Amino acid sequence: MSTNEAKSKTTVKKQKSKNESMKKRTSGVRQCKICNSRKGMIRKYSLGICRRCFKARAQDLGWEKY
Ligand SMILES: [Zn+2]
Repeated sequence: MSTNEAKSKTTVKKQKSKNESMKKRTSGVRQCKICNSRKGMIRKYSLGICRRCFKARAQDLGWEKY
């Protein structure tokens, strides 16, 4: 049962941050699907992620830095 308790705690935390990001969300506006930021969006690759998350992704994927 202790596992369930920990799980529900995590869910509450997640819901809170979700609500916060939903407030900022505007329909029709492209934003990072990872951090919900509209700053530094990369439209060139139509990935739907921002420059920062792209960098993190790139490193995850083993892309070279440039
Ligand atoms: Zn991002």
